[in-house]
Amino acid sequence: MIYDVLIAGAGVVGGMVARELSKYKLSVCILEKENDVAMGASKANSGIVHGGFDPEPDTLKAKLNVAGVEMLYEAADQLNVPYKKNGSLVCAFGASEEPAVHELYERGLINGVKGMEKLSGDEARKIEPRLSEACTLALHIPSAGIVCPYQLTLSAIGNAMDNGVELKRNFEITDIEKTDLFTVTSYKGETVQGRYFINCAGCYSDEIAAKAGDCSFNIIPRAGEYLLLDKTEGETVTHTIFQVPTPEGKGILVSPTADGNLLTGPTAAVVETAENTEITQNGVDTVIKFAAKSVPSVQFRQVITSFAGVRSSEKNGDFIIEASKKVDGLVNVAAIDSPGLTSCVAIARYVVGILEDIGLALDAKDNWDGTRVNTHAFREMNDEEKDAYIKANPAYGKIICRCETISEGEILDAIRRNPKALDVDSVKRRTRAGMGRCQGGFCSPYVMKLIAKEQGIPMEQVTKKGEGSYIATGKI
Ligand SMILES: Cc1cc2nc3c(=O)[nH]c(=O)nc-3n(C[C@H](O)[C@H](O)[C@H](O)COP(=O)(O)OP(=O)(O)OC[C@H]3O[C@@H](n4cnc5c(N)ncnc54)[C@H](O)[C@@H]3O)c2cc1C
Repeated sequence: MIYDVLIAGAGVVGGMVARELSKYKLSVCILEKENDVAMGASKANSGIVHGGFDPEPDTLKAKLNVAGVEMLYEAADQLNVPYKKNGSLVCAFGASEEPAVHELYERGLINGVKGMEKLSGDEARKIEPRLSEACTLALHIPSAGIVCPYQLTLSAIGNAMDNGVELKRNFEITDIEKTDLFTVTSYKGETVQGRYFINCAGCYSDEIAAKAGDCSFNIIPRAGEYLLLDKTEGETVTHTIFQVPTPEGKGILVSPTADGNLLTGPTAAVVETAENTEITQNGVDTVIKFAAKSVPSVQFRQVITSFAGVRSSEKNGDFIIEASKKVDGLVNVAAIDSPGLTSCVAIARYVVGILEDIGLALDAKDNWDGTRVNTHAFREMNDEEKDAYIKANPAYGKIICRCETISEGEILDAIRRNPKALDVDSVKRRTRAGMGRCQGGFCSPYVMKLIAKEQGIPMEQVTKKGEGSYIATGKI
């Protein structure tokens, strides 16, 4: 089979591009090296919908960020992905930091951000009472929000698949040959062919472009470490609280997540590769120190987990989204660091425009359905609704994850629907089973049992996160 379009990378960008292309009569295939989607930066980031005041004016980042905010909220509504327009505050702590707030306000106006206001420290504390007494000035951006980044990726790809897109996992691209077609080979020797090739490979997008014959950019991976706190701590703040940015990034934030936890981080450190996701003592100390500067009452004994994500940056600081000047039919969507999540729908539409410019015919389907049912509505139901649901499907009456109250019905749904969860971590990302206080200590064996049964494999073959990550060795 020759696909019209091949997409390298099943992150939020590749996923949204696939969803956008699924509106047309095209054969599209996503190639992903991992056992699941959203395994790169799209899994481990702040989940902030940035207002658009930060990027330099006239850059792709500025245009796609500002245009992307409402597009993202609209897509999240269609895909039933949790988000909240909680607004953000960029805070100055003392006179020396105040000029940065004024500058960001002016930049935001140039970029077209609506509704921003400057607040005195006292005014800011009125809407965010736990903000430090040391805050003297804040920029309030009401349009900013929070979204669950991996749910957005999962839902975008699931929806694209429901509309005909194919996903090949464990397909690590090791070779790309360009003749009239792209012939793409995986490390296992599997081959696929396509007419157009979109490079959304995140931190590896420079390597993928080079394999196709384009060595025009180099990615600089930059890691960010986080501490995530239990849900009770999520109530400590309602806004996303930033400090004024530094050359290294937007600084350490304190924010509720779309799921109700409290997130602190990220740090910013150049690392060797995207695999450098370890948590360091220095990173933890930095997060605690700067988070406490914004919100002194954060209770770090409530930390339930730590994680790190790796940004894919480039020396010029802007997104690289263009048809390759070296290889016909190749579109690079690279250096998508922050605000890439916020911009993902705008990026996807921009990419489709580029594909049309370089000759891809776009014939719209009349049966495209951009919506996705929320199969996790169960825990938000009242008792009567739950009762009716359980009568129709008794699996919803059996709670598997006690910390997060996740039922067997939701876990089976995660294993059965696009993109199917093939391992324990994939179930966790789809359902939150294992994300609570006990971090999967209780529910993991039950989840393994369900995966084994659904896939018709022995429990020893169930993995944590794909090839090689086996959990059980056999029966005792
Ligand atoms: C610490 C941090 C904080 C951030 N905070 C925010 C924020 O608050 N708001 C915001 O808007 N943005 C934020 N971002 C940016 C945002 O996360 C990214 O812009 C976005 O996730 C990029 O998505 P992507 O699909 O381009 O890359 P990725 O999600 O990294 O996806 C790339 C995919 O390509 C696959 N791949 C790589 N090589 C190969 C290969 N050889 N063969 C096959 N597949 C391959 C990878 O496995 C991966 O799944 C943050 C990023 C980080 C790291």
